[in-house]
Amino acid sequence: MASAQHQGRDVWGAGWKDSSYWLDGLSPPDVPVVDLPARVDVVIVGSGYTGLNAAIETARGGRSTLVLEAETPGWGCSTRNGGQISTSIKPSLEKLTARHGADRAQAIRGEGKAALAWIEERITAEGIACDFRRAGRFHAAHTPAAYEVLAREADALTRGEGVEAHMIPRDQQRRELGTDVYHGGTLVPSHAAVNPALYHHGLLRTALNAGAQVLGQTPVTAITRTATGYEVQTPRGKVLARDVAIATNGYTTGLTPWQQRRVIPIGSYVIATEPLPKETIDRLFPTDRIASDTCKVVYYYRASPDRTRILFGGRVSAAETDPRISGPRLHADMCRIFPELSGTRISHSWMGTVAYTFDELAHTGTHDGMHYAMGYCGSGVSMAGYLGMRMGQKVLGLAEGRTAFEGLPFPTRPFYTGRPWFLPAAVAWYRWNDTRQRERAMVG
Ligand SMILES: Cc1cc2nc3c(=O)[nH]c(=O)nc-3n(C[C@H](O)[C@H](O)[C@H](O)COP(=O)(O)OP(=O)(O)OC[C@H]3O[C@@H](n4cnc5c(N)ncnc54)[C@H](O)[C@@H]3O)c2cc1C
Repeated sequence: MASAQHQGRDVWGAGWKDSSYWLDGLSPPDVPVVDLPARVDVVIVGSGYTGLNAAIETARGGRSTLVLEAETPGWGCSTRNGGQISTSIKPSLEKLTARHGADRAQAIRGEGKAALAWIEERITAEGIACDFRRAGRFHAAHTPAAYEVLAREADALTRGEGVEAHMIPRDQQRRELGTDVYHGGTLVPSHAAVNPALYHHGLLRTALNAGAQVLGQTPVTAITRTATGYEVQTPRGKVLARDVAIATNGYTTGLTPWQQRRVIPIGSYVIATEPLPKETIDRLFPTDRIASDTCKVVYYYRASPDRTRILFGGRVSAAETDPRISGPRLHADMCRIFPELSGTRISHSWMGTVAYTFDELAHTGTHDGMHYAMGYCGSGVSMAGYLGMRMGQKVLGLAEGRTAFEGLPFPTRPFYTGRPWFLPAAVAWYRWNDTRQRERAMVG
C-alpha cells in the first residue's frame, strides 16, 4: 500500500512525463504518407511487433502488403514495455502435459525457446541497433515457500527442457540484486534485455524496406467478406484484400468480436526514475540482469541500457487507473524493495494494455478465413514478433508457418464479451494475498 508520502506530489521529478521512457529523444518514425490503395494482396491490422513481422514476411514473399494502424505506428505495447525477454510460455511443462499430452506440451514450450532464439537472429540479421543483450534474469522468491517451488521448477527446466537455471540462495542474493526483501531466487542466463522502441523502429524500417506500406491514423472500422477476399473499411475509404491478418492484441475490439471474446485486456504500468548515481545502480544491479519476482501480481524491473535509471513495472491497482495514480504506488513498491531509493523521483510514468487468455497461452490461427496472432499474456516481446513472422508465412502458404499452437482451442467463457468485469476483484485478492504472504515470511 502506498504511504502518505508516496501519494503526495513529492515523488514526481520536475517535468515528469506520462509517456514511455523508451520514446524519449526518439524521432517519430519516418513513414511515407501514401493514399489508401484500392486493392492489395494482404491487409494487416495493427503495427506492433506482430503486425510488422507478418508484413516483413508477406512483403518479402512478393505480396503487396498494407499495414493499417489506428494511431501512430507502434503506438501500442510494442514501444512501451519493460524490454525483458523470457521464453514467454507461462504454463509449466507439467501443466501443459496434463492438458495436451507430453509431445504437444514439449512442442509448445519449445516455441518459447524458438521465439527467444529467433528475436536475436532477427535483430542481428536486420542490423537493428536496440541494445539487445543476453542479460540473464534474476527471478526472486517473495517467500521461502516460493523459493522451494522455484528450486523444483529450475530442476525441471534444466533436466526436462535443457534451459539452464541456477538457484541463488538468500545469503548470496546481493551478488545479483541489492535487496534483502527476497528469499533467494532463480538465475536464468539465457533471458535477454532490449530497448523495445528501438527494436520496433528497426522493424518498421525493415518492413518499409521490404516494400510494405504502413498507414498510421487509419483505424479499420469494418471487415466484410467478398467473393475473392475481404473489403476493409477505414475513415479514409475502403481497400480490397485477398488476405487479412489481425495483430491487435490488447487493443482488440468489436471489429473482431470472436477474438475480442477470447482475450482479456489488462493494463500494465511502469515508472522510470530520474538519473541515479552510478554507485547506486552498481549496488542495486551489480550483474545488470533483468529482474522479476514470484508475486502473483508480478513486479518486473531493470536498469536502463545506459545504467542511469531504474525502470520498475507492475500492476498496482485493482481496476485500470491513470499513470498519475500508478506512479506513486509503483514508487512505493520500488522503495519497499530498494529502501535507499526513497529520495528518488519519477521522470516517466506510463501504461499499456496487454492481452491475457483463459488458458495463459498465446493463440494463432484463422477464423472466418482471417489470420490472427495474439494473447501473449504480458510476455510478447519475442513471442509477438515470432508468431507474427509465422503468421506471415502462413499467409504465403508456407509449411514453416505452422506452430505448436496450431489447432489448440482458443477458449472463452460464457457471457464474456471482452470487458473483464471480474478483473478488479481478482487483482485485489491476488495483491492482498501476495502482501499477506510477504508479511508472514518476514515474521517467520
Ligand atoms: C507496460 C508494459 C510492459 C510490458 N513488458 C513486457 C516485457 O518486459 N516483456 C515482454 O515480453 N512483454 C512485455 N509486455 C507485453 C508486450 O509489449 C506485448 O505482448 C507486445 O508488444 C504485443 O505486440 P503486438 O504487436 O501484438 O501488439 P501492440 O504492440 O499492442 O500493437 C497492437 C496495435 O493494434 C492497433 N489497433 C487496434 N485496433 C485497430 C484497428 N481497428 N485498426 C488499426 N489498428 C488497430 C493498436 O493501435 C496497436 O498499436 C509489456 C506490455 C506493457 C503494456
